[in-house]
Amino acid sequence: MSPCTISSHYPVAIVGGGVAGLTLALGLEAQGIIHYVLIEAHDSLAPDEGASIGLLPNGLRIFDQLGLIDEIEKHTSPLQRWRHLDGEGELISETNALGYYPSQIGYGGLFLERRKLLQIMTNKLKNHGAIITSTRVSSLEETTENVALKLSGGSYITADIVIGADGVRSRVREEIDRSQPGPSVHSDDYINVRFACVYGISPPIDGISEGECFSVYRPEAAILIFTGQAGIIFWFVFEDLGQTYELSKSPRYTKADIDSVCQSVAHLRISSTVCFGDVYTRRSVAMKVSLEEGVAPTWHSHRMVIVGDAAHKSTPNAAMGANQAIESATVLLNELQGVWNKPEEEILSSNIFHDAFGRYAERRKPRTGMIVQRAGITCRAQLGHDGPVAAVRQELPSLTDDDWLFRGFMGFSDSPVLAGVPLSPRGEFFHQAVEQFQERFRARQNGQLKVSNSGLFGNQTQA
Ligand SMILES: Cc1cc2nc3c(=O)[nH]c(=O)nc-3n(C[C@H](O)[C@H](O)[C@H](O)COP(=O)(O)OP(=O)(O)OC[C@H]3O[C@@H](n4cnc5c(N)ncnc54)[C@H](O)[C@@H]3O)c2cc1C
Repeated sequence: MSPCTISSHYPVAIVGGGVAGLTLALGLEAQGIIHYVLIEAHDSLAPDEGASIGLLPNGLRIFDQLGLIDEIEKHTSPLQRWRHLDGEGELISETNALGYYPSQIGYGGLFLERRKLLQIMTNKLKNHGAIITSTRVSSLEETTENVALKLSGGSYITADIVIGADGVRSRVREEIDRSQPGPSVHSDDYINVRFACVYGISPPIDGISEGECFSVYRPEAAILIFTGQAGIIFWFVFEDLGQTYELSKSPRYTKADIDSVCQSVAHLRISSTVCFGDVYTRRSVAMKVSLEEGVAPTWHSHRMVIVGDAAHKSTPNAAMGANQAIESATVLLNELQGVWNKPEEEILSSNIFHDAFGRYAERRKPRTGMIVQRAGITCRAQLGHDGPVAAVRQELPSLTDDDWLFRGFMGFSDSPVLAGVPLSPRGEFFHQAVEQFQERFRARQNGQLKVSNSGLFGNQTQA
């Protein structure tokens, strides 16, 4: 590609305006780096695609730093009780651990429409002039000086660095793969599809209350339900495809496919008065997608780097995909902040970005790899797979609220915050709660403290 007319040059080009891209844009603005461009293929940064999103304390603390938390909380309410059911509607186990999150760690677990979240994020942007919508990055060419991006419509821009927040079918990742020495690597080698999911939204219904969540464990098709404000229902029906597809060959679905799987679970009882069919019949929207899984082996070149689903794609069962996208964007921003603070002559060298990207990837790969794996295990357990994953289903009856809370704390312990942006009192509370937990956990490991899981945090869960 040889650029004919370069319309503009930017220090940072963000490709993709989903949760990862918008976190990056807001984070750059919070760090005082206003001169970026964000390019999004959709005609809006908050497209109406009918999806929902679950936010957990690790993502919410960063959103609190970005000034988003009050607006988000206006549009949802914390999850409280999670009931795990078998295919006959019989209760396997029930936990109120999520309900303790606000008092134990400062933030709850929340569900809301994805479009609403993206709108809240977009409204917070200061530099609306930096946003280019209805434009796709069609190709990229990296040189030692910069990266040239060809945009749909034929124009070119250049950037010192390109951040690919462009989702699981990332164009930026493809270019990074291509730039690697040695045998060629393709996303089909590391991202695959074994499951599909119908997701939808239905209005509140008597028999399912605000704050409730449900998992139905069943080999033929499994169900996950979360509730949002006033009891609005965000639901998922998971299906095992019976074989594994490479990313480029993942199946596509029609309306008939949605109906077929949802009718097959319509009879399943969710509560004493509600069957899944009652929820499905009242749906405002339903979509069916393949569920990709995988972690890219290479996350960066000298001037290009990937975040979010472009780098690490998990099934939705751990409700962590977006939260991990927020975390990755944060760690990358923290590494880049170190670069912006250097003298300009040093920043001109592409090695400085390469090294910062390397540190970011090194820090994030182990955690995201583990979360992709854990989400996959939960998905397989819900769909009745055998082997080690079956233990997840088998141990459910023995788990107490404290056990669930312990797992939550373990998961939040390594979560990052934006460097140089103050924490609110709730953010500080999260920090202290996790520090105290880690201290007591280490003391227990060393034999210096003899406590059960409840003694590792505030010990108020059995109230
Ligand atoms: C059914 C389902 C349920 C889920 N539920 C949850 C949940 O409860 N909690 C949770 O944390 N996560 C959940 N996830 C995962 C979560 O939605 C993703 O992990 C998250 O949205 C990833 O954000 P992202 O910004 O990395 O990618 P995306 O959301 O995919 O955004 C990428 C953006 O880049 C744009 N783009 C792509 N290519 C180009 C290009 N060449 N040029 C310009 N723009 C481009 C796209 O239009 C898109 O807007 C769920 C996922 C699915 C499928």
